[in-house]
Amino acid sequence: MINKKIFGHLENGCEVNLYSLKNKCGTTAEIINYGACVKSINVENNIGNFEDVVLGYDTLDEYINDKFYFGATVGRYANRIAFSKFSLNGTEYKLNSNDGNNHLHGGLIGFNKVLWNSHVFQTEQGSSVKLEYLSKDGEENYPGNLKLSVLFTLTDKNEIIIKYEGVTDEQTILNMTNHSYFNLSGNLSQTILEHELFLNSESFTPVNKSLIPTGEIKSILNTPLDFLQRTQIGLRINDDYEQIKLAKGFDHNWIINNYQKEKIRMAATVYEPQSGRIMEVFTDQPGLQFYSGNFLRDTIIGKNGTKYNYRSAFCLEAQHYPDSPNQPEFPSVVLNPGELYKQKTIYKFSTIKNN
Ligand code: BGC
Repeated sequence: MINKKIFGHLENGCEVNLYSLKNKCGTTAEIINYGACVKSINVENNIGNFEDVVLGYDTLDEYINDKFYFGATVGRYANRIAFSKFSLNGTEYKLNSNDGNNHLHGGLIGFNKVLWNSHVFQTEQGSSVKLEYLSKDGEENYPGNLKLSVLFTLTDKNEIIIKYEGVTDEQTILNMTNHSYFNLSGNLSQTILEHELFLNSESFTPVNKSLIPTGEIKSILNTPLDFLQRTQIGLRINDDYEQIKLAKGFDHNWIINNYQKEKIRMAATVYEPQSGRIMEVFTDQPGLQFYSGNFLRDTIIGKNGTKYNYRSAFCLEAQHYPDSPNQPEFPSVVLNPGELYKQKTIYKFSTIKNN
């Protein structure tokens, strides 16, 4: 079931739509075509109550002013590019800096700050919204006209499937993700420290103090970044460990096991014991940025006046490794004319019911 309504208008008069998808289980997901954002996901808890499990806002103006990427589609380059520059075929491209000297999540006007064309349809798999956007040659100083689509599908198996596609007319780089902030407890101001996390990963890319990868690949064994056994997020989040201190918690790229182009495998599972909710993440991407909401503050007011406190949400962003354009050893993010960029990530929800 799909419902469409007007969410608001941009300064230039353009209409922004809000799409509500609902499946047979009663699960709902709301998507807006400004920033291709996931605005809400309502999932049942262990006693049958549906509650919202993602951070976001009530109004379009708040999305326009947002600095946290709540629910947003991120690009052209998710995460950081060191010193906001990279080279392709001997040409250096200088991007806008918006994180100190570095380029973060697509720059000053990333995909989260533009209006996407949208249409809805129903398939055997479920209810879908397709969002399309043309990122013009030179946008944020990236080369190439890039035609993009993001397809959100809510299935009857409580999956939110996100499929991204892109084609370019000139060699460029592309790395897209979704930046939803989750709190499976249903209480969006409560910390996520009691959520239990499994990450299908044996190594990560250590960072420097600007959260730029050093280029090294490091084993997670015997470090607080080991989530191979399901572990409470809060258990080691304040450990006296250099990588944790640099990031003020978890904010790293885990290398997901068994990367093979376009092959989906499980990347993560999160369990919230109070509500019984579980979220599994499947992706075809090589990396997963697990960010434990270290920059959230009680001054951030979201839906229904809720305070988005320090560490009251986490992100699991499926993507290529940060700063890949400057790290020849990392899987490539180059997109050539004639090639099709594809990324597919699934967030699947379930609940362990009481009695
Ligand atoms: C990054 C964080 C950043 C957050 C909000 C995450 O993807 O890993 O370092 O603060 O996005 O921009």
